[in-house]
Formats: sequence, C-alpha cells, structure tokens
Amino acid sequence: MIDTLVDKLWAQHGLEEAEYARLIEQRTDESAALLAQRADAVRRKIYGNAVFVRGLIEISNICKNDCLYCGIRRSNANCSRYRLTPESILDCADEGYALGFRTFVLQGGEDAWFTDERLCALIGELKTRHPDCAVTLSLGERSHASYAALRATGADRYLLRHETADRAHYETLHPAEMSYDNRMRCLRDLRELGYQVGCGFMVGSPRQTAAELAKDLKFIESFRPDMCGIGPFVPHRDTPFRGESAGTVELTCFLLSVIRLIHPPVLLPATTALGTIDPRGREKGILAGANVVMPNLSPVNVRKKYELYDNKICTGEESAQCKDCLNDRMRGIGYEIVTDRGDIRKPY
Ligand code: SAH
Repeated sequence: MIDTLVDKLWAQHGLEEAEYARLIEQRTDESAALLAQRADAVRRKIYGNAVFVRGLIEISNICKNDCLYCGIRRSNANCSRYRLTPESILDCADEGYALGFRTFVLQGGEDAWFTDERLCALIGELKTRHPDCAVTLSLGERSHASYAALRATGADRYLLRHETADRAHYETLHPAEMSYDNRMRCLRDLRELGYQVGCGFMVGSPRQTAAELAKDLKFIESFRPDMCGIGPFVPHRDTPFRGESAGTVELTCFLLSVIRLIHPPVLLPATTALGTIDPRGREKGILAGANVVMPNLSPVNVRKKYELYDNKICTGEESAQCKDCLNDRMRGIGYEIVTDRGDIRKPY
C-alpha cells in the first residue's frame, strides 16, 4: 500500500494531498528507507556525490517581528542584540572566499537599519570583490520595489521560508500583524524578479498535523522552488513555545526524501537545526537526499547571539574549523564538499 505511494511519487513527482498525508501518517522504517534510497539515487544522477556549501553570515539579530517560535523575536528582552557593520560582513566573506566558499548567504532579522541603499552598496561591493560568487539574501519580507533594487545590484538568490502552507496554522505561529498572504506575495515577487527562490518550513512546529505537512508538499510541488529549507522546530526558552517539544530527525529526513522525489534538482540543505537535535543530524539529512550544507561564517563573538532556538550548534568555532568539520563529516559518509557556486541544474 505505502510502497505503491512511494512508487507513484517516484514515477510522477507528485501525489494527491490526501496521499501525502497518508504517506506521512502511515510511514514505517521500511517506507522511510525505500524513500531515502530512491531520493539518494535521484540526487546522485543529477549531482553525483557533490555537496554544495553556503557560507552563512548572520548580519543582525534585530527584528521587528514577533514570530512565536523564534528566539530573536522583538519581545525577547533577554536577547542581546547586535548588528554587523558592512565592513565586518565583507571581512567574513573575504575569509570565506579563501576557504573555498562561492556562495554567501546574508541572513538576519528584519532590521530597518538595512535599507535598500545600504544593502545595495554592500551587495555591489561583495560582487565587485568576488564576481564569481553567488549572493543569497535571507532578510525576510520586503516590498516588491526593494526586492527589485537588491536584485538589480546583483543578488542572485533569496531564501524565505513560507513556514507553513496552511493559513490557520500560519496564524498560530505568528502574531496577528503578520500575514500568510504577504509571505506568499513575497515569494511570488521574488520569483517574478528572476531570483533563484527558496521556500521551506519547520517540521514539528507546535500542533502541526500530517494534513498541514501535506499542504506544504503540495505547495512545493506547484511552486517548484530552486531551494527548500526544512528543519525541525526546536523550542527556545524565551519564547511562548518554550514548553513545546522539538520536531524529530526521523520525520525531517523522511520529508527531505519526499521533497527530493517531488522536485529532483532542488537544492536541499541539511540544516543546522537538524544538526542541533542529533549530533549526526546533518549526515542523516544528506543520506536522506539533501545536497547542501551551510557552515557559519559569522564572527565568533556574535554567533551565540543569533540564537533562533536553544543549543544551536557551531557557535563556538572559527569559520575554518566549521568548514573542516563539515568536510570530514561529508567524507565520512562518501560525499564531497565542492568549491562551486552550486546553482540548481537546469533544464529540469
Ligand atoms: N528573518 C528572516 C530569516 C529568519 S531565520 C526571514 O524571515 O526569513 C531563518 C529560519 O529559521 C526561519 O525561516 C525559521 O523557519 C527558522 N527558525 C526560527 N525559529 C526556529 C526555531 N525555534 N526552531 C527551528 N527553526 C526556527
């Protein structure tokens, strides 16, 4: 029964919404292993054993939003706030370049200091220094005009997780002033402006159901993102969700395999959150079908402050150590980190 669904997914790159829910609800170790095996084969056909790296630079933990799950939400008075200067961001990128990174991800809270003008100057300088690199932004919801300006100065990619494709669930994770419609509007704008676009969601967010996850999968099937970031929800002690339980490695890996089969060329990270809830989480993610890792290039003195959830890993070491550690981990399971921009393979 479930094997039939796995076969159908593999052959057709999609299922009915109710079938996705059934695949999730009735999953077994065997169905997970079968999916992972198929996902691995499909990924190897497109990308071989290459794993792409992205140098993550966490530019600010100042945020105007108050997402209920997030440790840097504005009402967390215990969060010690910081903002990197453009010079320090450029230094991180220079260091990353020397280590072999060819993609830089600038991620942060929605910090009004980073106006279009300041960001455009920064992106322009990054592209001048490193014309062979991709610049990915992950700076939340902005206007169409803002996304257009950033794209025009050279930003190549944008990561904006949709967080959940179920409107009612979205509203339980966010305060009333945030909107599901605006989140989706942003993704459409980014696509229209020619960015390589990443969406994604948390696995095991409080009271999430298989039916809601099925909607996320249906959304991925129709949106066909270039990138898709999924990781387990992990509670943070200073948020309203402090008492909730974390998502699991098992379900996250299961969904990574499903997403690989839905959209074979998708760039799929084995996330830091996955590595946080299991010391071998990122290896497990790669083996389930992921093909991207995102080592931290932020200055060590701010890393602990970009704490989206409790016990986030990779906050203590230098960038070079972070890269070496991941290199070793990937080699240990037969994969190889490559020096490459790591664009999605097209046509598909
Ligand atoms: N402000 C940016 C970047 C957000 S941080 C934006 O809005 O896109 C990147 C991602 O971390 C979020 O999209 C969210 O999915 C994830 N995240 C935040 N809090 C988390 C938590 N407690 N557990 C797991 N993931 C979390």
